[in-house]
Amino acid sequence: MTDYRVAVLGLGGIGSAAAFWASRRLGGDVLGVEQFELGHTRGGSEDHSRIIRLSYHTPAYVELAKAAYAAWEQVEVDSGEQLVLRTGGLDLAPAGASIGLDDYRMSMTAASVPFDELDAAEVMRRWPQWRLSEDVTALYQDRSGIAMASRANATHRRLARENGATLVDSAGVGAVREVDGEVEIEVDGRIHRVGSLIVAAGAWTPTVLGRLGVDIPLEVTLEQVVYMEAADPMSFHTSRFPIWIWMDEPSFYGFPIFGEPAVKIAWDRCEILTDPESRSFEPRDDVTEAVRGFAARHLPQAVGPVRLAKTCLYTLTPDRDFLLDRVPGTANIFTVVGAGHAFKFASLLGRILVDLALDGITTHDISALAADRPVLQEKDPVRSYMV
Ligand SMILES: Cc1cc2nc3c(=O)[nH]c(=O)nc-3n(C[C@H](O)[C@H](O)[C@H](O)COP(=O)(O)OP(=O)(O)OC[C@H]3O[C@@H](n4cnc5c(N)ncnc54)[C@H](O)[C@@H]3O)c2cc1C
Repeated sequence: MTDYRVAVLGLGGIGSAAAFWASRRLGGDVLGVEQFELGHTRGGSEDHSRIIRLSYHTPAYVELAKAAYAAWEQVEVDSGEQLVLRTGGLDLAPAGASIGLDDYRMSMTAASVPFDELDAAEVMRRWPQWRLSEDVTALYQDRSGIAMASRANATHRRLARENGATLVDSAGVGAVREVDGEVEIEVDGRIHRVGSLIVAAGAWTPTVLGRLGVDIPLEVTLEQVVYMEAADPMSFHTSRFPIWIWMDEPSFYGFPIFGEPAVKIAWDRCEILTDPESRSFEPRDDVTEAVRGFAARHLPQAVGPVRLAKTCLYTLTPDRDFLLDRVPGTANIFTVVGAGHAFKFASLLGRILVDLALDGITTHDISALAADRPVLQEKDPVRSYMV
């Protein structure tokens, strides 16, 4: 007897979305399992805000980002909640930056996404909060903004339950095996038989896939965001200050005031390798100082007392592209790895996983995200995280 048509392992950002989209098609024939309490902060998806943007380095990602906005709009309609806030967004690159703007320009143009090309003087004229040297150039895209992460996760789960899904928390999935074209999963000593399994395990993906004999060269890094009480809060209101990314090594990114009465800035991929079992939750002073140093140079009015600094995990593939595919060697198990930039796509990725699990196909171009791409077959691949 099959207990559920679909089960979702992990109810973080993407798993919560998958549970919702599955319940939208199947009603109560959906089981979601989360090893910790719902909304916990040990993974990669809980905070007030994540950047959402159309500005991406390949046309395929830009197209996926368009679909991501559409997925969020559908969840907003279903829930009556606002989940995305438009602020506009800046990609800022000093001369010789590690992440050139050309790919972004080319990709948005190919996907008919309008954007403005700005020099440093024009950026500072529009947003006097910035202090930039003359060599900085920028792309501005006006649909960029904030995906309201924690609210969106809670909304996906609420809707899933309202549609009839069973969501279980504080219960880890242990053994997983395929039997007679179905999947058996062990949850706290009890075996459930399901038609398909979606693995959305974030930093625990190597453990879950390892139990299936699959080894993918992932790295888990400890990331840290810093909320600072701006000297001039009004100039960082969401109506006055866009989200931004500094496209150089080190790369920083930031937000207007949202969720906390403070500006949020972070250093992308600050090189701290960890694992989800032994990780620290203690913010590091050197990372906070690096963020404050960047702000002092470029956003001096943002510098103020640290209100909150908190850690979070990235799960990175070597090329920083997502993994979104059937688990190699299985028939009915599908997985996703968000590579440290997936929140904006969370709802869409959940939907695609459900389509793969139920129909075997998706209408979206996810060919670059396949499990059999060469870099994922290497034991010790060259890692290129600057995208
Ligand atoms: C500091 C930071 C800033 C970021 N900024 C952005 C941004 O601005 N824009 C953007 O688009 N993306 C951003 N990201 C990336 C994005 O947030 C992640 O890619 C995405 O949230 C990952 O979601 P997930 O569901 O894969 O992982 P998670 O949210 O970590 O969920 C995985 C879940 O699986 C559960 N689990 C694991 N194993 C088991 C098991 N055996 N049984 C049951 N449950 C299990 C875990 O407990 C966890 O809840 C950021 C990430 C961080 C850390």
